[in-house]
Amino acid sequence: MLKIVWSPQYLKYDFGEGHPFWAHRGKAFLDELKVKSSKLKVDYEIVEPPKASDEDILLVHTPEYLDRVKKLAKESGWLTLDTPVNPGVLEAAYYSVGGSILACRSALSGQKVINLLGGLHHAGTSHGGGFCIFSDHSIAIRKLQKEGQNLPAGRQVKKVMIYDLDVHAGNGTQEIFYSDPSVFNISLHQDPRTLYPGTGFVEQTGEGKGRGFNLNIPLPPGTSGRDYLKALDHILPRYDEFKPDLLILILGVDTYKGDPLANFELEEDDYYKIGRRFSKFKKLAILCAGGYSKETPRLWLRFLEGLLGLG
Ligand SMILES: [Zn+2]
Repeated sequence: MLKIVWSPQYLKYDFGEGHPFWAHRGKAFLDELKVKSSKLKVDYEIVEPPKASDEDILLVHTPEYLDRVKKLAKESGWLTLDTPVNPGVLEAAYYSVGGSILACRSALSGQKVINLLGGLHHAGTSHGGGFCIFSDHSIAIRKLQKEGQNLPAGRQVKKVMIYDLDVHAGNGTQEIFYSDPSVFNISLHQDPRTLYPGTGFVEQTGEGKGRGFNLNIPLPPGTSGRDYLKALDHILPRYDEFKPDLLILILGVDTYKGDPLANFELEEDDYYKIGRRFSKFKKLAILCAGGYSKETPRLWLRFLEGLLGLG
């Protein structure tokens, strides 16, 4: 059974009219799934996440940053020019963190799981931006690693792997785990010389003990589905080498040819093919990140069809 993590609170992740991030895309996905589920024979349940606590947030972010975000939310201010914050957005951000913790926990117990708001990879320890306030997946990793310390060896979460397929480089994730060999962060994205956030280069491979555990694969604007899948096939074997206890997939579908914020040329069927490739992995948590075209819910569904071997 597929577990879908979604909360009505996610609808509050709304940056206002005219902003490219459309808050109701998760709901639109559920509506589309409802229509198609009998035909596709998808067996699923929707689970509401708990709200994360400040203690959770502080596993990754600095107290100064958390205070700043709270103050900004009260004033309905701007974290960066592209990321306004108000009380609703902040509330939703807490639930997104709760959702990713829940998703990762469910993945560890062997369930197929997808969180419809997560993988917000531009948030670093003391900064946000690019529509990201909290690094939900990084908080989930730190929480599960910490909890695992008290568990028997076989149930501990030591090594975590991230495949970040959003078209933008995950500068926040990269920064958070840059010197940490326990988290292998792999990002496939559009050449950062041509796209936000302007970092995520091949030579950025980690530092200190973390050297070799940050892998950036930038691809040129105009990259086709065929070339994208070739690059993906090149990096997937890293999973078998690293042997993580948990795998996180940041499923950005802003790689789609119709996406207004980037310049890749993936077709709808390419998401099915990506889903097929991830079907072999166990302990996989899928987090729905970027996707700004109206087709976004359909692309997520196409990915799931591939993952579950349907259609
Ligand atoms: Zn993106």
